[in-house]
Amino acid sequence: MEPRPRKIRPPEADSFSIQYLKSLPKAELHLHLEGSVTPSGLRNLSKKYGTEYSALSEEELERQLFRYEDFYSFLETYRIVCEHLREPTDYVKVLDGLGEYFTQENIRYAEIIYTPSIPWKYERDGKDILQALLERSQQIQSTQGTLIRWILDCVRQFGPEWARRTAELAEEFRDQGVVAVGLGGDEKSLEMKEYQEIFSWARAHRLYIHVHAGEIGDAQQVWDALLILGANRIGHGIQAARDSKLMDYLRQHAIGLDVCLTSNLMTGAWKPISDNPFGLLFQRGVPVSLNTDDPGLFQTSLSEEFQKAVQFFELTQEEVHRIVLQGIRSSFLPHDEKMAFMKRFQEEIRQLSA
Ligand SMILES: [Zn+2]
Repeated sequence: MEPRPRKIRPPEADSFSIQYLKSLPKAELHLHLEGSVTPSGLRNLSKKYGTEYSALSEEELERQLFRYEDFYSFLETYRIVCEHLREPTDYVKVLDGLGEYFTQENIRYAEIIYTPSIPWKYERDGKDILQALLERSQQIQSTQGTLIRWILDCVRQFGPEWARRTAELAEEFRDQGVVAVGLGGDEKSLEMKEYQEIFSWARAHRLYIHVHAGEIGDAQQVWDALLILGANRIGHGIQAARDSKLMDYLRQHAIGLDVCLTSNLMTGAWKPISDNPFGLLFQRGVPVSLNTDDPGLFQTSLSEEFQKAVQFFELTQEEVHRIVLQGIRSSFLPHDEKMAFMKRFQEEIRQLSA
């Protein structure tokens, strides 16, 4: 079934101003650390390491690298950015930028995705970087109040050996802020069953499973993520809107989809935004949350994602609040912490909307 486009709300609609959306307490569940590098961040790294991009202005960089023809040209920019993240301090600087972003956006809880196999491929110490990130995320929590948890991502096209190392690293730091193992990268590369044993090991070691599926791949990718890898939450998953049984399954099993509207538009995974399946998935009761994916690479923020959802899918204020709360419901927090966040968010939202 083809998702049905919905009417468009005028952007000036008042009770949905960007200030209101910013002021709502929020959680962000799908946010890549490496994808949080901005054009100016890349320029600084390029100067530090004397690479070819240092001669370009920020605007030139943005024009040449931060606009994408398709998913693969996006992956190429991602690769260039990752190549510039060399030392733990480079990663920590990106995390500091996210700390400021969380404060500006009133994001109280975040699950950040970090991919250790990238530094490993460049023969850098991925574990050292993780330790530096965990330490700084503790500091961010105590000074700015945002609780950060980590998903360690495996890259689908890299193969199972890198994934095994990633899962082992996640297990080593499970009680220090790492909550899940993820699978990202190119859905059209290796089959999910290549990763079945590793993800089953991770589940047995009390790690949640997060899988990018149904972004540029078809709905079967989402089924495979659920039935082969035992995914607890799906990154994107928008192609599920083409499969009625799958939408029922996601609703019945409370499997969340992290929807990223600007990302889908910019990578060409689904465009225009007005046709994005988000509206249909939400109407069908599939647990959907809104996320930026890569706020630096896509030049967006969580409140802008909410603003686009309001504009293109005619959400009511109550629906906006429900989507905000879904960000906590779909999180990998333990039950009691989840309930405490829910209570706090509900109370603040009640005061803000009174
Ligand atoms: Zn992603």
